[in-house]
Amino acid sequence: MPDIIERLRQEVGSKAVLTRDDEALEDYGVDESGLGPYPADCAVLCENAEAVDIVLALANETGTPVTPRGAGSGKVGGALPIHGGIVLSTEKMQSILEVDSDDLIAVVQPGVITGDLQSVVEAQGLFYPPDPASLEYCSIGGNAAANAGGPRAFKYGVTREYILGMEVSLMSQERLHFGRRTSKGVTGYDLVAGFVGSEGTFGVTTELTLRLLPQPPAVQTLLAIFPTLAEAGNAIGLLLRNGFRPRTMELMDKTAIDTVREQNGSPIPSGSYAAALVEIDGLEEGLDDALMQMGMSIDEAGATDVLVAQNEQERRRLWQARRLVSPSLTAACRHKVSEDICVPRGKMIEMIRRIEILKREFPFTVACYGHAGDGNLHVNILCDEDPEHPVVAAQLEAITRRLFEHTIELRGTLSGEHGIGLAKRDYMPMEQGPALLAWQRKWKAMWDPKDLLNPGKVLPIASRACHE
Ligand SMILES: Cc1cc2nc3c(=O)[nH]c(=O)nc-3n(C[C@H](O)[C@H](O)[C@H](O)COP(=O)(O)OP(=O)(O)OC[C@H]3O[C@@H](n4cnc5c(N)ncnc54)[C@H](O)[C@@H]3O)c2cc1C
Repeated sequence: MPDIIERLRQEVGSKAVLTRDDEALEDYGVDESGLGPYPADCAVLCENAEAVDIVLALANETGTPVTPRGAGSGKVGGALPIHGGIVLSTEKMQSILEVDSDDLIAVVQPGVITGDLQSVVEAQGLFYPPDPASLEYCSIGGNAAANAGGPRAFKYGVTREYILGMEVSLMSQERLHFGRRTSKGVTGYDLVAGFVGSEGTFGVTTELTLRLLPQPPAVQTLLAIFPTLAEAGNAIGLLLRNGFRPRTMELMDKTAIDTVREQNGSPIPSGSYAAALVEIDGLEEGLDDALMQMGMSIDEAGATDVLVAQNEQERRRLWQARRLVSPSLTAACRHKVSEDICVPRGKMIEMIRRIEILKREFPFTVACYGHAGDGNLHVNILCDEDPEHPVVAAQLEAITRRLFEHTIELRGTLSGEHGIGLAKRDYMPMEQGPALLAWQRKWKAMWDPKDLLNPGKVLPIASRACHE
């Protein structure tokens, strides 16, 4: 490694290279998954695509593993350098290169923080819908690599729907542009679809062309309280059947609601068993009526209380309570396992019923919240014992496996939006058969024949696939 570090210093500048002599390097061995730490040998803070090309070329030449990293907010260990080597950080690539309100596109570097992009385009009357709860600190490059979702995916879809084109630096020492700037186009194979969600295992994104929408002129937000999570879940089906298409439909169970209150305070009334945060948008005219009718449907579904945000400040407070669920739960226990299962919409009530049974079968507190409009539930298993203790570790493994079995039985999927990374890699065979995994290995090998780019992520190592 010393030779490689020296060459990196020479070629990208010594300020850009952090080594084990720098305390700051420790940050690059962890992310929000709670896994690790996995110490890197060095981190390179690339400022442009040329620097990314250099790092990949050196890694390829010397056989050094290289792990792309955006803001490190990932929940599945995707940015962890599990085999050491180089962490390639895009955090310094924060330029918004273009916002074009005629073409309705933005061109950005990968390190741009999602919330910053939203503020910039909103100031021009435009709208970038993907809104992961981590939007204040996650990056667009990381969102693309994980195909991030968020509450607004219910109406607007996930990150993939907003990436028109990409520039990607490859292990082959080429930089490819693919995709388009037009709103539609079917020329050649859809490489954008293949790279979005590839979790930094195919190439490093150095630029993204994003689709924008006109900003909806008005938004209304309401919070509905229900006696049970299942009743809150039922409300979604009723709203859809009654012809509503809210832009968000977020659920929080009692544990999630109470933990936010204990840790940070909350506008959600105490004693609430389940809450749904529902938002509609559109033209100002008629939106109040639509909200009132929606409120009536929610009443019909069994809500005990419906609170409408009266102004932007109240709206922000409600959303803050939702965004603080994950950090509050993390702070409230010794160890948290965050699952991110997704089931077909019509199976969500059955999934909630099965999670209730799991809660009784295992000695853990389980919090359940998430993007219920999409059937995407964040099931958080909270553990106050030592997670390394063999008995506790076996119970954590057992509850996770049971959760995944139920998910697959209901024809759902292991991850709705966080990705597979390291955390779920070895569970992949529960959902995908050997032929499908083998084809994905071939695909990975095509982009990265030496298996140096984010090695050990997404695809189970054949002999270690112990969960089949
Ligand atoms: C409190 C909290 C709330 C969250 N809420 C949501 C949510 O609502 N929805 C959701 O989808 N996720 C959510 N997440 C998870 C996380 O924020 C997302 O997965 C996000 O997209 C990760 O972005 P990042 O920049 O932090 O990427 P990182 O964590 O740095 O990396 C994630 C993956 O992307 C790869 N990568 C990063 N940049 C590049 C690049 N330029 N080229 C190639 N590969 C790259 C990495 O190798 C890694 O595999 C949440 C996380 C937290 C902590």
